[in-house]
Amino acid sequence: MKKREVFDQVSDMEKRIGELYEQLGDLKDHLGKMLEENNRLAMENHHLRNRLDGGEKQDENTDNDHSHAESEIPGEGYDNLARLYEEGFHICNVHFGSPRQDEDCLFCLLFLNKNK
Ligand SMILES: [Zn+2]
Repeated sequence: MKKREVFDQVSDMEKRIGELYEQLGDLKDHLGKMLEENNRLAMENHHLRNRLDGGEKQDENTDNDHSHAESEIPGEGYDNLARLYEEGFHICNVHFGSPRQDEDCLFCLLFLNKNK
C-alpha cells in the first residue's frame, strides 16, 4: 500500500468517525427526550390509575366517606387540577375523582381559587 493511499484511508476514516460521533450526539438527544416523555407518561398513568381507583371506590361505596379522599389528590400543579375539573371531574376533597355531571361544584371552585 502506498503512503498516499494509507493517508487517504485514514482521513476517510476520520471523517466517518466524525459523522458517527455526530449521529451519536443526535441519538443521545433523542434518547433524552424519549426518557422525559416516558417519565411524563408514567406519571400520567399513575395519576389516571389513582383516579380510576377513586372512581371505583366511589361507586361501591355511596355513603359520603370523606376521610380517604384527601390523600388521593396528586401532588400536581394547579393546571392539571384545573384541567381535571374542566374534563368534568371533582378535584375537591369531598368528591375527588368522581364525575361532576355538568354541575359546578362549590367545593371544587373554592379549592381552585385557594390554589391559584
Ligand atoms: Zn367537587
